[in-house]
Amino acid sequence: MALHQQAHIVVLGSFMTDVVSYVSHLPRVGETLCGSKLAICCGGKGANQAVSATRLGANTAIIGKLGNDSFGKSYLDALKKEQIITDFVGLTSEALTGLAQIIVEDSGQNSIVIVPGANNYLTTQDVNNSKDTLAKAKIMLSVLEIPCETVLSGLKLANELGVFTILNAAPAVENLEKDFYALADIFCVNETEAEMLIGQPVTSHDEALSAAHRLMGKGCKKHVLVTLGKHGALLLSRNDQNGFLEPVSVTAPEVKAIDTTGAGDCFLGALAYFLAYHPDFPLSKAVVNACRVASKSVQKAGTQTSFPYKHELECDLF
Ligand code: ATP
Repeated sequence: MALHQQAHIVVLGSFMTDVVSYVSHLPRVGETLCGSKLAICCGGKGANQAVSATRLGANTAIIGKLGNDSFGKSYLDALKKEQIITDFVGLTSEALTGLAQIIVEDSGQNSIVIVPGANNYLTTQDVNNSKDTLAKAKIMLSVLEIPCETVLSGLKLANELGVFTILNAAPAVENLEKDFYALADIFCVNETEAEMLIGQPVTSHDEALSAAHRLMGKGCKKHVLVTLGKHGALLLSRNDQNGFLEPVSVTAPEVKAIDTTGAGDCFLGALAYFLAYHPDFPLSKAVVNACRVASKSVQKAGTQTSFPYKHELECDLF
């Protein structure tokens, strides 16, 4: 059982129960619609990333908060089934488990309401309670679906303990304090998040490179990674003289994408896995491999359901 194993990856993050209704068209104000199908799935960026890393074989712990309700309890069971270490998952009675109400119409367009609920109750104290485990971990991965001060506490603690940090600055926010850039070893965003942070469009490798330089200018200490959907990802790293190494443009494998939801989370979990378990790989190879894993996930429907297990992937990745 993974339960009492040492976590090599610690995710500081979020849980959402995704409640998805399928309808012919999105309802107008005041309209009641009869849907054709309902799906209830585990989601939330933090948990998604933990699942992605664990399916590749990582010992992963998650620090997070669920509601003390039926969604929370069944989410906890699901995490245990995935063999994710849940010692630092709290159940709160202050709010309900985070929920994403998703309505998908026949055309594929959707509308989403997210209520973070219990995620808002994840505190610095919760992070501090994980200190002994975090101290022995190789990677801490965090997202912004939990209170900013909690993320900052986690980043500060990981830095104090010498643990490598990846910050996925998602969902998109307009103004991010300097510390978020300065405390992340890898600062990772997608096109939309990059655009929100620097105020200019990011749709190509060239624009991603210019965005990465602007993000470095905001205080990123080592690496900026911009994911570009089907176009892959761009990595910009500092060298020892405070200049930059040659940027690395990674192209994603060409595949028939069915559902790209959660591709970014699959990518980040995989990246954390390769960094933690293949320290001999240069970062660029870890990024290439993470792109390959994420490109597998887009060929299947759903979010966590689409994340591949190690045995489903090509051997040369490992
Ligand atoms: P989401 O918000 O849907 O979870 P994201 O916008 O955060 O995803 P993306 O940049 O869309 O993340 O995708 C992450 C990675 O997934 C890409 O770098 C790429 O490797 C892979 N990927 C995404 N879409 C495709 C695609 N259509 N074909 C191949 N690979 C893809």
